[in-house]
Amino acid sequence: MNHTARVLNGVEIAAQIKAEVAEEARVLTARGIVPGLAVVLVGHVAASEIYVRSKVKTCAELGIYSEMLTPPESVATEEMLELIAGLNARPEIDGILVQLPLPAHVDTRRLLEAIAPEKDVDGFHPINVGRLQSAASHGVQAGAALAPCTPAGIMEVLKRSGLPVAGKHAVVLGRSEIVGKPAAMMLLNASATVTVCHSKTVDIARYTRDADILVAAIGRPGFVTAEMVKPGATLIDVGINRVTDAAEVARFFPGDQARAAQFALRGSTLVGDIHPAAFALAGAYTPVPGGVGALTIAMLMHNTVLAAKARRGGAARNAQSADAHCESAVGKA
Ligand code: NAP
Repeated sequence: MNHTARVLNGVEIAAQIKAEVAEEARVLTARGIVPGLAVVLVGHVAASEIYVRSKVKTCAELGIYSEMLTPPESVATEEMLELIAGLNARPEIDGILVQLPLPAHVDTRRLLEAIAPEKDVDGFHPINVGRLQSAASHGVQAGAALAPCTPAGIMEVLKRSGLPVAGKHAVVLGRSEIVGKPAAMMLLNASATVTVCHSKTVDIARYTRDADILVAAIGRPGFVTAEMVKPGATLIDVGINRVTDAAEVARFFPGDQARAAQFALRGSTLVGDIHPAAFALAGAYTPVPGGVGALTIAMLMHNTVLAAKARRGGAARNAQSADAHCESAVGKA
């Protein structure tokens, strides 16, 4: 029997969301409220620099003011706390994002908790974690809660692809604060029956084989093999793993000329936590790259506009009274 799994195109879904966010930003701006995001990048971690540049660029594309703060690697926790207090106090800054990881000597937890919850566009503050937990179950909507971007992106993929969640068995691999736990909570809020697996789970395949929706977020290339999935399941692959070994690439993508050519050119390729052979059995799946990864920045932009609306959207402002700094800064971002 021939079966073609449906590819859930994260790039297309992200483009839809970004277009909606740009329209909301345009409407707010016309009212004198330019949504503003501050991104704090400590030191020079190459991957973080790439992510931050991409966030700043997307802000500019969508009409969101952004600014980048770049304290040196040696910055002390107290100095970072002062910097965050300054951003908390600035009315034109709606979102504050501290790019992780931070240097080991900086107290990450203290910093994240110092961000004003209404500006916490990453959704990591305990207040927002608590709001996510207490919202939406029993039919109460999450409202304006700022939810972590990657799991929020997963929920958008499911919703916009018309894939029902209520009543399904969702299995989440991974229990990080950034992906696994909030993804499990959102799926539960959407009335799935949720199982969470982690490194201490005994016989993971026993759970994954029963999953209608399988979310893999563990950071282990090709961990979920074809034998571990239920035919017809929805597979959401969050893992982003860079593979640099040619033999491994050949093992993951046998006969895939395009991958081989890409690998020859770049010396690496990206593999998710789900083995590509498992996708063939799926009802639908998110590829790597081009799946969930594309959604994270789109949801960050969404959260920034949401925060701007929640903080400032209620008070109708005269366009002439708009903060001149905001207006001029959009052009610069
Ligand atoms: P993390 O903080 O390292 O957490 C990994 C989780 O996976 C932990 O809960 C760990 O269990 C579990 N785990 C590790 N090895 C396992 C194994 N062999 N079997 C079962 N569970 C195992 O990672 P993360 O930040 O959540 O990221 C996970 C993956 O998603 C990474 O590949 C990352 O690059 C990717 N990611 C993608 C995006 C995006 O698409 N934009 C965003 C964030 C992360 P324990 O808790 O027991 O240690």
